[in-house]
Amino acid sequence: MNKIGIDLGGTKIEGILTDESYKTISRKRIPTNQDKGYSSILESIKSLVLELSQESDDKVSVGICTPGALSLDSGLIKNSNTQCLIGKDLQSDLRNILHYDLSIENDANCFALAEAKLGAGKNSNLVFGVIMGTGVGGGIIINGKIHRGRTNIAGEWGHHCLHNEGNSCYCGNKGCVETYLSGPALEKNWSQLSGLNQSLSEIIQNSDKKNFQKWRQIFLDNFGLALANVIDILDPDIIVLGGGVSNIDFLYNEGKNTVYEKVFSDIVDTPIVKNELGDSAGVIGACML
Ligand SMILES: [Zn+2]
Repeated sequence: MNKIGIDLGGTKIEGILTDESYKTISRKRIPTNQDKGYSSILESIKSLVLELSQESDDKVSVGICTPGALSLDSGLIKNSNTQCLIGKDLQSDLRNILHYDLSIENDANCFALAEAKLGAGKNSNLVFGVIMGTGVGGGIIINGKIHRGRTNIAGEWGHHCLHNEGNSCYCGNKGCVETYLSGPALEKNWSQLSGLNQSLSEIIQNSDKKNFQKWRQIFLDNFGLALANVIDILDPDIIVLGGGVSNIDFLYNEGKNTVYEKVFSDIVDTPIVKNELGDSAGVIGACML
C-alpha cells in the first residue's frame, strides 16, 4: 500500500505520496490561509489528498500531522498553536469529506517518529525529538512507537514550566519552554535587550554586538534547563533537534555542555544532534502513522 502524509503547518500545508518504504513519489505544497478559517483548511487538505491519490497506482493510507493533540476524552484538537483548530473534530470532519480511514498525530510526535525510524535516531531505542520553530514541542519514541502517555500529552515539552513567574503563554500558563525557545520568543528577547527587530538568522551574526553575549547566555541557560529536565526524567538514548532554531550551531557544543551541567548525574553523555530529514520529517512521520 502507498502512503499519503499531510503536514498541516501554520503557514503551509505539505503533502507527499510515498511507497511502502517511504520513498517520495510526489510532493505538493499549498498555503494554509489560517485567516480564512477552519473550513478552508479542511478543503485544502481534501484537495491535496485527492490530487496525490490520483497519482498512486495502488491503495493509499492517509496520515495527518498537525500542531496540537487529540483530546482522549472528546477527540477534539487541543493545545494547538494553529488556534482555529482548537476544539474542532478534525479527524471526523476529514473522514466525512474524504471517506478515508485516516490517522491524525501531533506534529512533534510525527517528527520524532520519522527521525527515530529513518533519521538521526535510527539506531536508538528511546528517542526524544524536539521541534523548536514557531512553536515548541516534543515527542517520545520507544522501540519505534510513539509513546502517547495516559492522556495523550507525553512529550509536551514546549509547555512544561521553566520559570514559574515567567513569560505568559497562550496556553494560559506562565514560563513555558515555548515562550523562551521558540523562534519568535528568541527574537522578542533580542528586541527587548537590543532595541533591534531582527530575525533569528540575523541575530546570530551579531557576535560583536553589545547584549549579544547576554542574549546568548539566557538562551543557553533555558535550553540547558529544558533538556536537562528531560534527561533527568526520561534518560533517552538520543535527543534530536528540529525546527528553525535547530539550525543554530552553538546548541550542539556549548548548548549540549549547558544541558550536561544541569543533569542530576555524574555520568551524562546523551547525544544531542541535529535532525537528518530536515523540513520533511513531519510529513514523512505522517506517512508512518
Ligand atoms: Zn504554554
